[in-house]
Amino acid sequence: MTNSASEPLRIAVVGAGPAGLFLTDSLLKNTAHAVSIDVIERLPTPYGLVRYGVAPDHAKIKSVITTFHKTLEDPRVRFLGNVNFGTDLTIDDVRRHYDAVVFAVGAPHDRRLGIPGEDLPGSISATEFVAWYSGHPDHSEIVHLRPDAESAAVIGVGNVAVDVARILAKHVDELSVTDIPHAVLDRLAESKIRDVYIFGRRGPAQAKFTTKELRELGELTNADIVVDPKEIELDEASAAEVAGQQALQRNIDILRDFAKHTPAGKPRRLHLRFLASPVEIRGTTAVEALVVEKNRLDERGNAVGTGELETIPMQMVLRAVGYRGRALPGVPFDAKAHVIPNVLGRVVDENGAPVPGAYTTGWIKRGPSGVIGTNKACASETARELIQDVPRLPRAAEPDPASVDRLLESRGVRVTSWSDWLAIDHHEKALGGKHGRDRTKITDPSGLLEELASKA
Ligand code: NAP
Repeated sequence: MTNSASEPLRIAVVGAGPAGLFLTDSLLKNTAHAVSIDVIERLPTPYGLVRYGVAPDHAKIKSVITTFHKTLEDPRVRFLGNVNFGTDLTIDDVRRHYDAVVFAVGAPHDRRLGIPGEDLPGSISATEFVAWYSGHPDHSEIVHLRPDAESAAVIGVGNVAVDVARILAKHVDELSVTDIPHAVLDRLAESKIRDVYIFGRRGPAQAKFTTKELRELGELTNADIVVDPKEIELDEASAAEVAGQQALQRNIDILRDFAKHTPAGKPRRLHLRFLASPVEIRGTTAVEALVVEKNRLDERGNAVGTGELETIPMQMVLRAVGYRGRALPGVPFDAKAHVIPNVLGRVVDENGAPVPGAYTTGWIKRGPSGVIGTNKACASETARELIQDVPRLPRAAEPDPASVDRLLESRGVRVTSWSDWLAIDHHEKALGGKHGRDRTKITDPSGLLEELASKA
């Protein structure tokens, strides 16, 4: 039976990360229309990058989960985990069962450097490394830390680079109080890392990290921060830029303090380098060295190579040069910008015409930038446009929630429900409690659910 205007609006939100959950929250708060929302997630667990991207030692940032928990617990919302959009549920299925769909799938891929040696073992994307130490189920079988590595380079000076460098620089005991899975802690305990390098291709005034994250690098108990005063000297244009921006000025002040720092002989060293671009990763069977070219800035603040090369022995290279969105089957995609083309969150086709009933929010809407909270305003905008469109929305032919359940069941999809997540949540908290931690993540939530079902 086609959904009528008096029935709650049936909405599919694809992606249970911060983008999808802020959007769900915005829709729940609208007073113009009753809604019934299915949050569809590829993984068995909710929370996306908050669970599998926010650094384990940044518990405060993760506390947004309390808000998201309330959103998912709302009786107007269902969590359908372990459902892959495109295979388990196609765009045609979504059109048949929902009045509107919002794509909030983030930007799961990494950007490439495009230099020789990038695919050598030991050269990995920060995306993979972060997923590994965060206990992402797709990475549980692979160890992303080379056990023999004494030196590692992190390419890029955004907050992801800072997270990765900090985790490499910390002693395992500092991390054992976090929610890091046991298997990951065991590998980190074997780490032989002595030197971690962070390379920015431009100067400190162009770096993307935020002040709080930068400051933390100088407070590490296990690593001395090393900054060459020459590399943080500002050219005229950068000095003018810094003078007009308080946040930038704070970063420069912190870096100047770092440059004055006398190493205290801590077990590890964290070298913060600027004006150096990676040009080659050398090695025969695995990473052995990184070659960087020294840069200067042109008048627009872009990096220009000077031809001066430096080769640094290295066993790991982590590329933290940004994320990239990927296309979803049957959904328009801008292959240059790696986003779903949209106007204020309304998905548009290749001619710029709105695709009825299709919306987007978060990184796949605007590109991979901004902190978690940035997604809130982004979601409000999309929700507002969707609600405005309600009178014109094509209504679903089969809006009954049970019809989606039947479809997924007929395809053999083992959907994880909200109560399944609560069981995983309970298990992880109990596991953490045994070691005096708030939580210990498990890397195989589906396996746990099977085990619990077999005992029931
Ligand atoms: P990002 O902030 O865009 O930083 C990417 C870095 O990679 C930039 O320094 C960029 O330099 C560099 N880069 C790009 N291409 C390069 C190349 N070919 N060679 C050398 N360097 C290159 O991206 P991100 O670190 O992935 O972070 C994504 C978003 O998540 C950001 O908004 C970030 O703030 C957020 N985040 C926040 C937190 C937190 O709040 N604690 C933690 C993690 C992530 P150029 O500037 O020269 O292009």
